[in-house]
Amino acid sequence: MARKKLIAGNWKMNGLMEDGIALAKGIAQEVKAFGKSECEFLVCPPFTLLASVKKALRGAKVALGAQDVHFAEKGAHTGDISPLMLKDLGCTYVIIGHSERRADHFESNELICKKAVAAHAAGLKTVICIGETEAQRDAGKTIDVCKEQILGSVPDDSTAADTVIAYEPVWAIGTGKTPTAKDVEEVHAAVRKVLAKKIGKGNANKMKILYGGSVKPSNAKEFLSLPDVDGALIGGASLKVADFMAIAKNASENKK
Ligand code: PEP
Repeated sequence: MARKKLIAGNWKMNGLMEDGIALAKGIAQEVKAFGKSECEFLVCPPFTLLASVKKALRGAKVALGAQDVHFAEKGAHTGDISPLMLKDLGCTYVIIGHSERRADHFESNELICKKAVAAHAAGLKTVICIGETEAQRDAGKTIDVCKEQILGSVPDDSTAADTVIAYEPVWAIGTGKTPTAKDVEEVHAAVRKVLAKKIGKGNANKMKILYGGSVKPSNAKEFLSLPDVDGALIGGASLKVADFMAIAKNASENKK
């Protein structure tokens, strides 16, 4: 099953206007120079930069995504952003359920699922994040935790066309620590199995499952060459044009 790799940058809460535009322009330029690409690109800047980054990416095949969304269409939700607002800005993707939101904002699987349903209804694709903490890993619960998160946070009618899963071990995010390639492949294969039960084998086989957690140019090849790894969700290394593109180069060299 050929799944085109997705190289996605999560800029998190980084970048003022000037830096954000420069980063987006740099990525756009490199992606254009990349020629016919073996992979798809996505950048997810903070809300404040979405409109300017959209402009800076003009003419380059790089999708724009947000890092969170509210489940309501509009109304009394101070500080929140609706799916239609993101669409209006030119977003085609939104990250949902990142571990930093699960931890900092106490987001539950149920809430994440509601957000995903609303995002899909508005025509946005979701990148739904799952992953175990270090304590859960040490207790041998990695697969159980991922299973519970998928069952609770991925809508029942999700398809490969509207949903991407990102497996991000919490302990590997921003720490420089990574699981072994064998561990990652084992979790991704298990995730695909759970997805098959939930949304059907056809959709599960087509759905992209990204790995995220301290991905950098030097380890990208190791992860991106695994059979069930369909791209990467990249935090720190997505803030440097050269690193982001070096990771993408590894994806292109690892066509499946
Ligand atoms: C992330 O936040 O999604 C992430 C994977 O971060 P980093 O690449 O910095 O570990």
